[in-house]
Amino acid sequence: MKLHEYQAKELFKKFGIPVPEGRVVRSGDEALKAGRELKGPPWVVKAQVHAGGRGKGGGVRVVQALEEVKKAASDILETPLVTKQTGPEGRKVHQVLVEEGLQIDREFYLAVVIDRAQARPVMIFSQAGGMEIEEVAARTPELVLKQFIDPNTGWMPFQARTLAYSVDPLPAPETLKELMALMGKLYKAFLALDCSLAEINPLVITRDGGAMAVDAKINIDDNALARQKELRSLDDPNEKDPLDAKAEAHHLNYIRLNGNIGAMVNGAGLAMATMDVIKLAGAEPANFLDVGGGASEEMVTRGLEIILEDKNVKAILINIFGGILRCDVLARGVLAAAEKTAIKVPLIVRLEGTNVEEGRRILQESKLEFMVAKDMAEAASMVTEQVKRSA
Ligand code: GDP
Ligand code: MN
Repeated sequence: MKLHEYQAKELFKKFGIPVPEGRVVRSGDEALKAGRELKGPPWVVKAQVHAGGRGKGGGVRVVQALEEVKKAASDILETPLVTKQTGPEGRKVHQVLVEEGLQIDREFYLAVVIDRAQARPVMIFSQAGGMEIEEVAARTPELVLKQFIDPNTGWMPFQARTLAYSVDPLPAPETLKELMALMGKLYKAFLALDCSLAEINPLVITRDGGAMAVDAKINIDDNALARQKELRSLDDPNEKDPLDAKAEAHHLNYIRLNGNIGAMVNGAGLAMATMDVIKLAGAEPANFLDVGGGASEEMVTRGLEIILEDKNVKAILINIFGGILRCDVLARGVLAAAEKTAIKVPLIVRLEGTNVEEGRRILQESKLEFMVAKDMAEAASMVTEQVKRSA
């Protein structure tokens, strides 16, 4: 679960991480009022969306007059924000954060994430912060430093020193102290909130030598939401792709992708393999959809509906290896979906496993038009063929 910057900053504050004073608002007038209450000029007006790169896309404005606070907020709220991470259609902004502006001296990058290969958290620090860390890592990897954290000992003072004393030129002793303290607090927040990511970019050093989180990004591990009940209310449905939200509501593992072949599969491994064979056949999957090993007829129906609602889908591949999910249950689920929404794109079915005969019979005796593939490779080449034909 992703949080907004303003939500992340409120949480950071609780852990003693300094953040600028600010207010969340939903209109130009409210922004003006917030500006009056905050120190300035300058003021900073920031779009609250679950997408990075706002600065470059015009979603972060540093302004010098109260009237401009209002105008910047209205602008941001009226026009969809386009950044590297939103896609060309952009994202509607529902809330903006108005903050006191800071006199920034330097911008650093600081984050804690889980390193899967090492199976432990890692603190990532760079003195080349502010811009995209991916670019820094690609161009000047020596400027991205890492400290792996032993979960048994936790974050150690020597690790903070290793990172902080790498800064060149070295900041004043008081500033270094604040920087190191902030690292410890970020790790504490990361652990306590069950984060998969806690990131500050930029972590700024102000002209008066203070360290402060000017941006804040927190992702909460979805698997921890059962015990992070207070955090669940921070979820913003406005930020969700409607198809993703529908899938979540029906407990389907669905990830929307950029291709045009809709795939419905049972089991994450088979779904991954199906995406691979689709690519191997020269096409691109429109989604990852694992209806789950023990899917019900209802879940199969909802899964197929989600695929049908995706306007990019030009052909559908159903690849099921019936185990706990029986093929007859699958077949009935498919028919129920087809009754509600006419399937206007070619449908290719590959069925094997438990009750496969009955599953096939149910489909064949229906009015549904579909093609049968004898194995995965054939299914992939058939579906690819269909997409090419329709292009
Ligand atoms: P992002 O582009 O979505 O990551 O948004 P950020 O919150 O990181 O803002 C982008 C950039 O705006 C930062 O790197 C800063 O350079 C600048 N910025 C943000 N807040 C302030 C501020 O209070 N004062 C000044 N001068 N610049 C700011
Ligand atoms: Mn940022």
